[in-house]
Amino acid sequence: MWYDVSFIIIIPGILIALFAQIKLSSTYSKYKKILSASGFTGYDAARKILDANGLTDVPVVRQDTGSLSDFYNPKNRTVSLSPDVYSTASIASIGIAAHECGHAIQHKEGYALMRIRNAIVPIVNIATNISWILMIAGVIFPLFDLTLIGIVFFASTVIFQLVTLPVETNASRRALAAITDLGIVSEEEHIGARKVLSAAALTYVAGLLMAILQLLRIIAIFGRRN
Ligand SMILES: [Zn+2]
Repeated sequence: MWYDVSFIIIIPGILIALFAQIKLSSTYSKYKKILSASGFTGYDAARKILDANGLTDVPVVRQDTGSLSDFYNPKNRTVSLSPDVYSTASIASIGIAAHECGHAIQHKEGYALMRIRNAIVPIVNIATNISWILMIAGVIFPLFDLTLIGIVFFASTVIFQLVTLPVETNASRRALAAITDLGIVSEEEHIGARKVLSAAALTYVAGLLMAILQLLRIIAIFGRRN
């Protein structure tokens, strides 16, 4: 199947995803070398933003993982930062740490799209796994519209990416407002932090595009057989 001509459909997606990754790592490398005048590390920035938003009980922990693996865990309400972001006083660290705090604030406020996203994660995981079984079963046993149901299940990945994108851009918007309002960055530094977060957002745009193209490819493969 991987040698199928329908592979062409996803090539633009792969190229854009590749471009987004390169753009993110080059922007991150640039701004992790530029230190903030305030001297705030990612940890300091996160602590200040969380405290200012009444989230003093949300811990900021150092996670010994690779770069750009920072996240907010809604299950234990924890902001996890990679070593570089946690302890470096760079514009990139501040931007990324603030973004994760943006998710913590979304969680506190019960931001609807985040609630939807968290609720559909397990459903999407199950649906995508089952979708393959259904699509293949539909080819072997063409009795029911198993293939069609499989394709509908697979489409849940597109819905997941469609919901993820605004959740991410909203977290970045909250982050950029907070670091300026709380005096963590200057106006000029704000621009740098925004560039880092915009580059990160581009990877989510690429993720959405990829999900759409993969769905089209699956329709091309299985639709033809039916
Ligand atoms: Zn995020």
